Parts: sequence; structure tokens; C-alpha cells
Amino acid sequence: MVACSDDSAEPAETVEPNETEQQQSDNNAADEGTIEETDPEEEVVDEEEPEEEIVVAEPQYKLNPNTWGLEPISDAPAEAVLLTVDDAPDKNAVEMAKTLKELDVPAIFFVNGHFIDTDEEKAKLKEIHDMGFAIGNHTDTHPNLRDVSEEQQREEIVVLNDKIEEIIGERPKFFRAPHGVNTDFSRALVEEEGMLLMNWSYGYDWEQQYMDAAALTDIMVNTEFLRNGSNLLMHDRDWTAGALPGIVQGLQDKGYTFIDPNEIEGVE
Ligand SMILES: [Zn+2]
Repeated sequence: MVACSDDSAEPAETVEPNETEQQQSDNNAADEGTIEETDPEEEVVDEEEPEEEIVVAEPQYKLNPNTWGLEPISDAPAEAVLLTVDDAPDKNAVEMAKTLKELDVPAIFFVNGHFIDTDEEKAKLKEIHDMGFAIGNHTDTHPNLRDVSEEQQREEIVVLNDKIEEIIGERPKFFRAPHGVNTDFSRALVEEEGMLLMNWSYGYDWEQQYMDAAALTDIMVNTEFLRNGSNLLMHDRDWTAGALPGIVQGLQDKGYTFIDPNEIEGVE
């Protein structure tokens, strides 16, 4: 069984700062105001708005494809970070989701196809999704995409989207390549599949000295790489699950809020 538990492979994950992604932009037509026949001198009265329209979340942040950080759009708070969990749902993802749900903190769980083979595993994914967390595609068998053919890359990405859709009723909105290694082919395919591709700003839980909840909590909160919009990489690991409450608390103590993945431009 191919597993991502080969932790020795994880340090090879490298950020590729020069990758460029086509910026997506929305032209939101301004709402047409209704014309009211009132004397402008009269006191302004807020009228009830009887129509209940479906609320579509306006994007509040956009992904910077050079840093993989998130930047606020208009007046969204800049002092915010994004939490992500890769290699889910293995042994800890449901517990991690419950921890975050209790703390009312959103996150993206990036799913590997080899972790959703059995009914029990599928139920874990469903549970995480039902708790309201965003689901991302982390490929079917976690290969280095540069080592496999284009046809295999298509299998790795599209087959997993099909599997996930079958379980949660919708296709993933995000993609993160194993080890952060993308190809021109995979980038185009990810866009074609309507997903937002992202790597990350920083993460530590695959390094030997941080395979410990206390050490991991400390570095995730106090690293020099923490800044507004940081995209935090974590994994489904015992020590990361143990560190999670402390990481959230530490970031909140520093004044950070957490970015709702549904409010990232390009996934609405
Ligand atoms: Zn991974």
C-alpha cells in the first residue's frame, strides 16, 4: 500500500516561489440602487428588505501565487492566516476537525485517494465535510507528479475528484500537489477541473525535531515566517493533532484570525 506515512519523503516538499498562476479577477457588477420617490430633505429611514436572496459569500482574500499567502480584498482583516491539513483522512483528521470545529476555526483538509478506499475511511471524509471544512485534492496515490506520465497525472487528479464527489456530493475546490511539485500539465488540468492550486507558506511537522506537540506548537506560532496571510501546512499526524489547540490559541494570542477557505477568490 502506498502511504504518505513515509515521513522521510516529506522534507522534499519545497516551496516553488517562482510559480505563477493566472490571477483571477471578478468584475462584480455594482448593485443597481432602486429609485425612491422621496423628498431628499426627509429623514432617511432604512426600509425593510423583504426579499430573502441566497447569500453568496463575496471573496475576502486572494491567493498570491508567488508566496502562496493570502491577501485581503478591500477591508478584510489582513492579520489572518489559513490553516491546511494534508494527507487526510488518515488516523487523526477527524479528531483534528473536531478540535477546530470546537474552536470555531475553519481549515482545508487535503485528501489522498489511498486514504478513502474503505467504507470506514469514506465515512471519515464525509464527517469532516459535514462539519463544514473545505476539502482539497492531494492526488490519488501521492506521487511526485514530475515522475509520472501525463495520463497518470490525469488519473491521480481527476479520479480522486470523482471519488470525493461520490462521497461528499461535490468536487474539491482546492488542489495541493504532493511535495508541492507541480507540472505544466497538472497546473492546466487543475484549472480545467475548477480547482485553486496552492502550495504553502510554512510548515514543520515532518521535521524530526518537531515531531512533538510542544515543539511543533512553539515553532508554528513563533516562527519568523509567520506573517499576515500565511498559509500554514500541517499533516494528519499524532503530534500535529496534539499541537493543534495550542497552535490556534497561540496564533489568536498574537492577534490573528483564521481565513475561511470559502472566502478565497476563485472558489466561490
Ligand atoms: Zn502529502
